[in-house]
Amino acid sequence: MAKKPVIGLLGGGQLGRMLQEQAMLLGIEIVVLDEDNCPTRQINYNHKHVTGSFKDPERIRELARSCDVLTVEIEHVNTEVLEEIATKGVEVGGQMKKVPVHPSWETLRLIQDKYLQKEHFGKAGMPIAPQMSIDSGPSMLDSLQKAAKTFGFPFMLKARKGSYDGRGNFKVSGGADFEEAICDMGKLSLYAEKFMPFKHELAVMVLRTEDDEGKLKDVYAYPAVKTVHEDSICTKVFYPPPQVPTDVCEKARKVASDVIRTLKGRGVFAVEMFLLEDDKLVINEVAPRPHNSGHYTIEAVPSMSQYRAQLYSILDIVPASINLQPRVSGAIMLNILGGAQEDSHDSLVDLTHSLYNDDMDIFLHLYGKSSKPGRKIGHITVTSYSPDTNLEQLAGPLIKEVDHIRQ
Ligand code: ATP
Ligand code: MG
Ligand code: MG
Repeated sequence: MAKKPVIGLLGGGQLGRMLQEQAMLLGIEIVVLDEDNCPTRQINYNHKHVTGSFKDPERIRELARSCDVLTVEIEHVNTEVLEEIATKGVEVGGQMKKVPVHPSWETLRLIQDKYLQKEHFGKAGMPIAPQMSIDSGPSMLDSLQKAAKTFGFPFMLKARKGSYDGRGNFKVSGGADFEEAICDMGKLSLYAEKFMPFKHELAVMVLRTEDDEGKLKDVYAYPAVKTVHEDSICTKVFYPPPQVPTDVCEKARKVASDVIRTLKGRGVFAVEMFLLEDDKLVINEVAPRPHNSGHYTIEAVPSMSQYRAQLYSILDIVPASINLQPRVSGAIMLNILGGAQEDSHDSLVDLTHSLYNDDMDIFLHLYGKSSKPGRKIGHITVTSYSPDTNLEQLAGPLIKEVDHIRQ
């Protein structure tokens, strides 16, 4: 039998940990580049692991030497060295070995810059919010005034690179905010975006398959979910999205699939969207990896969760016919954000046990991270099999508790 391919993973946080959980169930080997007690390595002992930063070129080359394909759990990585490894190769025993990178380093590079990412989607005819680049340095004030004139107030000022969980976003509500915006953000590379008065935020996970020559094979979309953000960080995900008509959900799946067709590489991608009053959809951003909005698929689509899809796609072994329709009638995902005390979230363990109930399955995921206020340290997914179950009501005590911990 041929040797089984080994996947090299840059970054060993919670996404890597959930990828590893599925890899174990499928007999797939993952080697991680990150610190030795990172969440993924806590559950994956492998002598091939590389200890260090996933931003360090030498460590990335070292990882590539022992793997057959490289992937990432975070998009903020060094794409120059990934390009080198994929196109020129890495030296092994005096020979150059090329290691494919999925998703493609080109896609990672494009997505890293949120402004260029959306310029790309806009040029491809996809709906995006109007945006303009903003100067930093002495002309920043002029540039902000120009944005205010073009978009009106409020508008969003955003860091082009490196942002997550809303860090790097600033809502400019009036001219009085300019000084603070310049002080907080003036050293970053920036752009401004028209504020979208959305009625809901939706997200669709899309699986993209590609042959060895880089030719698109297919895209497959999971159902649309509703994401709820509080203080710019995702706190809850609802499947199906309450108060969103089926035809709008289908339109979201179609837009998301079209968006992902314009990119390169294998893997799963999240497409975050705004749903406006007139049911128009606008793309917010794309994440080139498993995503918070797709965690619920671990239990809701067990045969092809977003993590399994990522593994199958990277290894190019996606079965000929797959079904991404959830087996459950409803699911809610609640992020656990660290509270004021290191152990604030301990109450969720007892609550999970006490809510045991035939009509609702509860799955508590803790990521093995130390708790800090506002840090994502775990999530809970609840599912039900009967459309008659009022899941939100049954899960009420859990919803209340995660909200309380976060305060
Ligand atoms: P992520 O953790 O998803 O990568 P991020 O730091 O890249 O987050 P964004 O997705 O740009 O941040 O924005 C975070 C949230 O801020 C959005 O989900 C939305 O709730 C709000 N937001 C962002 N841009 C706009 C906009 N143009 N109009 C209205 N709300 C917005
Ligand atoms: Mg983002
Ligand atoms: Mg986002």
